[in-house]
Amino acid sequence: MYSLPQLRASVWSERVTAVEKNEVTFVPNTCGKQLAIVNGYTFYLHMKHKSTVSWLCTSWGKCKARFTMKSDGVIKKVIPMHSHERPMFKIINGVFFKC
Ligand SMILES: [Zn+2]
Repeated sequence: MYSLPQLRASVWSERVTAVEKNEVTFVPNTCGKQLAIVNGYTFYLHMKHKSTVSWLCTSWGKCKARFTMKSDGVIKKVIPMHSHERPMFKIINGVFFKC
């Protein structure tokens, strides 16, 4: 079973509301690719660096939202503003399905 990592999102931007704090969920999609869900928005793994991983909004191109997470789970850099509504999706048995 896939277990959710415990995140300590200590460096979130002050513009991020309390609801968004510590609310990062990781789920694989039907292709087995990892997605991160933050406050109802979905992110895909963009790049793995030495000690950080950067995640981009799945609407990247029209949306600039992204975040960077260190390997210890601390969120380092956040661009929290999305230019669109939350995507529609379901999580069934720990797997992400787009509606
Ligand atoms: Zn977005």
